[in-house]
Amino acid sequence: KLENATAKAELGRASWKLFHTMMARFPEEPTADDSLALRTYIQLFARLYPCGDCASHFQKLLERYPPQVSSRNNAAGWACFVHNEVNRRLRKELFDCNNIGDFYDCGCGDDGKGKK
Ligand code: FAD
Repeated sequence: KLENATAKAELGRASWKLFHTMMARFPEEPTADDSLALRTYIQLFARLYPCGDCASHFQKLLERYPPQVSSRNNAAGWACFVHNEVNRRLRKELFDCNNIGDFYDCGCGDDGKGKK
């Protein structure tokens, strides 16, 4: 089947949105189990990402820059950094990671305040 660049880009935007929004909601002070869950999620995301070329590039990136899962700030900063590495390879504009703070809003208000 022919490559469809529009669909590939659409999948990328949707995936990055979920990826960064998940980091923005990761606990500021995660338990060891939270951190393990995020690390596992990221590894499986990289393995199962539907675009095979993208997945193998991203797995190599993870080897070079292992996921930072010790806090929300570290996770969000790491995710921004690796997305910028993908941007660099695709010759896209780089994102200013200092602005990551309020950029990704899940729209879920206060839900989950008491749970993880
Ligand atoms: P995207 O890169 O999709 O970004 C969406 C929005 O996120 C931007 O508009 C901006 O507001 C914000 N953003 C940009 N950079 C950052 C950042 N560093 N941190 C936080 N937010 C940011 N496409 C390929 O053609 N080849 C590949 O090998 C490839 N690999 C990929 C690997 C992964 C894991 C993923 C998720 C996607 C991959 N893609 C790949 C898709 C590609 O990264 C883009 O998603 C797609 O090209 C659409 O690009 P875009 O310009 O709309 O912005």
